Amino acid sequence: MVRRPLLSLVLAVALVAAAPAAPSAAADRTPSAAFTAAAARYDVPRDLLVSLGYAQSRLDERAAGRSGGHGMMQLADNGVSRTLSEASALTGLSRAALRTSSPANVAGAAAVLRSYADSAGLDAAARADLDRWYPAVARFAGAVDDTVARLFADTVYDQLATGFEGPLSVSARPVAPDRGKLARVPAWGSGDVGVLSADYPPAAWAPANSANFTVSSRESSYPIDFVVIHVTQGSYAGSISWFQNPASKVSAHYTFRSSDGAVTQSVREKDIGWHAGNWDYNTRSIGIEHEGFVDNPAWFTDAMYRASATLTRNLTTKYGIPRDRAHIIAHREVPGATHTDPGPHWNWTYYMQLVNGVTGTGSGTVDTASTNLNVRGGPGTGYAVVGSVADGARVTVWCQATGTTVTGTFGTSNVWNRIGTGRWVSDTFVNTGHNGFIPGVPRC
Ligand SMILES: [Zn+2]
Repeated sequence: MVRRPLLSLVLAVALVAAAPAAPSAAADRTPSAAFTAAAARYDVPRDLLVSLGYAQSRLDERAAGRSGGHGMMQLADNGVSRTLSEASALTGLSRAALRTSSPANVAGAAAVLRSYADSAGLDAAARADLDRWYPAVARFAGAVDDTVARLFADTVYDQLATGFEGPLSVSARPVAPDRGKLARVPAWGSGDVGVLSADYPPAAWAPANSANFTVSSRESSYPIDFVVIHVTQGSYAGSISWFQNPASKVSAHYTFRSSDGAVTQSVREKDIGWHAGNWDYNTRSIGIEHEGFVDNPAWFTDAMYRASATLTRNLTTKYGIPRDRAHIIAHREVPGATHTDPGPHWNWTYYMQLVNGVTGTGSGTVDTASTNLNVRGGPGTGYAVVGSVADGARVTVWCQATGTTVTGTFGTSNVWNRIGTGRWVSDTFVNTGHNGFIPGVPRC
């Protein structure tokens, strides 16, 4: 509670020093104000800008991307994308300010988007139509491949269609993006023959650049002993694109999407991905990336855990890999690793239960006798209240854990039910038909 205001103050000073602004601009340093100001200044639809930030970082100003992205909007100069340099040229703000100050970061992204809209020929009337910004958003992806550019822009528009909640919330609205030339590019994972993975049919296939992995025939040359678990430090589209960027010199076999557990394969299983930072481990492992940033648990959804565990279970069967933590390992656990992923918020207990086939879900009816039930950010009364569910509502139980002891409708219990990502309720207010732990539902 103390650090943030101080940090913001320092950044505010830095921003003002870089580009004198109207005095009122310094009055409100919240993310909401940053988006409102940037949208007004560059005539970019505010919610489009917010959705872009949500896709890039979940609106987390701390986000430090692997492909060089900085801040909420992941401005980057990385060999393909040059949004950081472009933002600096357009705004007159220093690259340091654009990297570290959220108002500058958001303003920079708005300026870049506006310049893309201008070069696409959007006039003032067109700029007022959110659907016309699609080509500008797709260009912002900095993707090598048009299909990935479409994936990125579709994500931004899908989020607007469904609405989302985070540090800033955006309500659902109808969207009908004008995709321009990208309308001819197949939608990601649309099932067109030729885009599905030969190794794992649920996966879309988007090959990494040949400069980023080693062609092999591992079935005859190396045993596959490990599955290495990673977190992307970037968006789904951004990570797939990074593997296609010859400057990256990295690749993983598979990447999962946070929102729904969708998966893309970038390297054939027979080939050696460059993901572990250790040649011996690269030769003996399959690398799996998960969309997100290690220090923000909002990315680690039940959908992604379950989809990833299904693949890992498949791989362990295919290659005879034991389903234990000696063989399904963190990138951090690879000898010599300089990365910390998947980080402290990755729930190994839950993941390994799923990998070992404990994949059930439970359901129950909230029974508080009258009032709404608090939803907390973790399994205990010491965690913040993050929402509520109404008495009588049905909830899905993705996994269960022990936490603080609570006395409620169904007696006294220390069992807590995870009913969504970062959403927990005490079991003693939920009629699941079971006393405490539900058979077949994983612990987490
Ligand atoms: Zn990693």
